[in-house]
Amino acid sequence: MTRNPLDTVRGQLDFIGELAKIEPSVIEQLKNSRKVIEVSLPVRMDDGKVEVFTGYRVHYCSWRGPYKGGIRYHPTANLDEVKALAAWMTFKTAVVDLPYGGSKGGVICNPQELSIFELERLTRRYTSMICDDIGPFKDVPAPDVGTNAQIMAWVMDTYSTLKGYSVPEVVTGKPISLGGSYGREGATGKGLTICAKEAADRIGLTLKGATIAIQGYGKVGFSVAKNLAAMNAKIIAVTDIGGGVYDPKGLNISKLKAYEGEKGSVASFPQTKPISNEELFALKCDILVPAALENVITEQNADTIDAKMVVEGANGPTTPEADKILHEKGIFVIPDILANAGGVTVSYFEWIQNLNRDRWRLEIVNKRLEERMVNAFQVVYNLSKERAESLRTAAYILAVESLAEAHLKLGLFP
Ligand code: GLU
Repeated sequence: MTRNPLDTVRGQLDFIGELAKIEPSVIEQLKNSRKVIEVSLPVRMDDGKVEVFTGYRVHYCSWRGPYKGGIRYHPTANLDEVKALAAWMTFKTAVVDLPYGGSKGGVICNPQELSIFELERLTRRYTSMICDDIGPFKDVPAPDVGTNAQIMAWVMDTYSTLKGYSVPEVVTGKPISLGGSYGREGATGKGLTICAKEAADRIGLTLKGATIAIQGYGKVGFSVAKNLAAMNAKIIAVTDIGGGVYDPKGLNISKLKAYEGEKGSVASFPQTKPISNEELFALKCDILVPAALENVITEQNADTIDAKMVVEGANGPTTPEADKILHEKGIFVIPDILANAGGVTVSYFEWIQNLNRDRWRLEIVNKRLEERMVNAFQVVYNLSKERAESLRTAAYILAVESLAEAHLKLGLFP
């Protein structure tokens, strides 16, 4: 039985509520979504038949600002998962101190099996159904697993068409030509790398020559591989849904990406040994990066992990039971709500640029991303030292305290 990620969120909140002595009614509110939208999406397929998909948008919390969060297209998407992901967005934006709340969307579908025309019709239908619930000051979607800049372009166009004027700031992660920000595409991977570097400095690990294993070679996995390789780290193993590859001398990550683009998986990349997911997790390495979906590090495999550091690229990759085991083993874990916050940080930059009808150069975006990530890491790290807690617990304390403070000042309507 896979763990329900919403139970994980609620467990995390109970734990932090007691530890940080947060008013129980605040915790109770944070355990629940503010608004849940479920939509039924009839879509005409290329063969002329109509298929009905189900989609969700969850508004989790807006105490710190407008709702913000991605849209996931995945066959196993479900409401509790979307709620959990929306909760994690709420904590993530608080940890990096962005003026946003948290939300998330999901559509149950397999984007790999849809044609580009079907994807467009599905996206436009979904956007039209949630049109009144999104908006630049209400809820700002972005890409997540299974969605990309093209899909965000259709969200923007559908929303703008329905409004009657162009509204680029309704969604982030757009193509550059439509007001997307330079640096957004690789932002999550860059943020992970910045956190890994900060952590490495503190635990006495040199990134040059460090061995890295990555689960997932999508947007996040590839970009963290690219950034770490640029710092002369060695990417020794990568897995994806179709299989995995291992080369103790280090993989050529650009060639691997080109190969994956062509074949649909990294599996059987020439001159490498095959490796399974479980073998990748158990591989002796310096840094392990889960960069796919939630619940992959569990009590079943946590004990096999032989890395100095785990940098969570995915949202919710580690179950609470596994987290305890990693902590006991002395593995330095950089939690998702800190490690992968680079994506939403550059989304925020994109939103600001759109609202100001401005465009920042890539160097400016990267510099500001670095400043924010380094600062957030420092704050969380110091808090973890001060309270003798793990980085994850410290990040949660920071997020929940900041949310509680905002709630206190807002008061309750009516
Ligand atoms: N989907 C990404 C995440 O989970 C980015 C969200 C955003 O940019 O709003 O953080």
